[in-house]
Amino acid sequence: MSPRTTIEDVYAQILARNPGEPEFHQAVREVFGSLDRVLEKRPEYTEASILERICEPERQIIFRVPWLDDAGRVQINRGFRVQYNSALGPYKGGLRFHPSVLLGTVKFLGFEQIFKNALTGMPIGGGKGGSDFDPKGRSDAEVMRFCQSFMTEAYRHIGEYTDVPAGDIGVGAREIGYLFGQYKRITNSYESGVLTGKGVTWGGSLVRTEATGYGAVYFTQHMLATRGQSFDGARVLVSGSGNVAIYAIEKVQSLGGIVVGASDSSGAVHDPDGIDLELLRDVKERRRDRIEVYATERGGRARFVPGASVWDLDGDESVQVALPCATQNELGEEHARTLVANGLVAVAEGANMPATPGAIRIFRQAGVLFGPGKAANAGGVATSALEMQQNASRDSWGFEHTEERLAEIMAGIHERTAETAEEYGVPGDYTVGANIAGFIRVADAMLALGVI
Ligand code: GLU
Repeated sequence: MSPRTTIEDVYAQILARNPGEPEFHQAVREVFGSLDRVLEKRPEYTEASILERICEPERQIIFRVPWLDDAGRVQINRGFRVQYNSALGPYKGGLRFHPSVLLGTVKFLGFEQIFKNALTGMPIGGGKGGSDFDPKGRSDAEVMRFCQSFMTEAYRHIGEYTDVPAGDIGVGAREIGYLFGQYKRITNSYESGVLTGKGVTWGGSLVRTEATGYGAVYFTQHMLATRGQSFDGARVLVSGSGNVAIYAIEKVQSLGGIVVGASDSSGAVHDPDGIDLELLRDVKERRRDRIEVYATERGGRARFVPGASVWDLDGDESVQVALPCATQNELGEEHARTLVANGLVAVAEGANMPATPGAIRIFRQAGVLFGPGKAANAGGVATSALEMQQNASRDSWGFEHTEERLAEIMAGIHERTAETAEEYGVPGDYTVGANIAGFIRVADAMLALGVI
């Protein structure tokens, strides 16, 4: 990139070279929106074409995943692994199994992951993968055969020192188990550190399951504290009812907050007395059922709104904290406007990119505290890095110690993000703080490693 090339020129090249990938464009735009301040201070980044290089994945793998369903029919899915950036450590990031997954989805998630992982301060690069496989309604045996087929190709591209996948939407302990089993079988080695999110009896880390949800709540606590506020007595909306949402709800409740809504892809439940977490876990985790069943079994206390987003419920509720923990672009401008009008104080993204750019603008203009996913949901991948540490030293830590480490890491991320925002003249803007702090760490490593 010649010194005269601007961020806008680079962005135009990215649009032209990556057509039809709107989520990827959105993720790049969001990071680029923060970088003009850095590039002014550090011309060496422009001279070394860091922007162009950081947007181009180091390697992208796309493969066929054939498997047999329970009726003996052949099914074909597409598998992906985007190995985005390894300047700071092995590629690290989850696998998403969802019918909406396209290459552009994996690229947006991988791109976000680079900066999120850098922000944790741990030695992990960025990557992401997944498949358009839909685990919903599939038997355990079908999920196992799919995972085995996925790993039969993926194993040659990953490794403890190369690339370490984990879970994301549609990939939890069950899938990681089947994936690890197949990796172990093919390679004939017990290489624990090749995947994270493993079961605690076979190389997993305590707190990894809880980490993303807990971490998002810790981050929100730090944001609230800057205004002398806390979760105690706060009314909170959480979207989703998967792994991130469940543990965010648990932590909010333990801090005295009242979570009045949750959701899944079929609709939302409004539970003004506060979610009964045991029941929600029973329905969603153990029975893998629809959230409507939760409302039915809540004995008249909760209302199910089919097809609704949890953010639609804010018309009936005034909430102080919003924790979007479902999926990308779930919280739009209209939702943001209603939330703000009803007295919202803070938002933290438990999911990746759940708030649209328009919603973020509205939050910013209204002075709502906004914790972007790169910072707020980094507790999951940070605890994956702790799992890698335990695997490397053949150790396993206790719950309390691991949770303390997670809490320290989240406090560090909050501090780094807030200080960077301050340094670059936008105090309280966690988006700019997270983007710049993450970017500088990766960019400096890339400079040091030469043109590779
Ligand atoms: N999928 C999670 C994320 O978005 C966790 C990734 C990991 O643990 O590697 O950060």
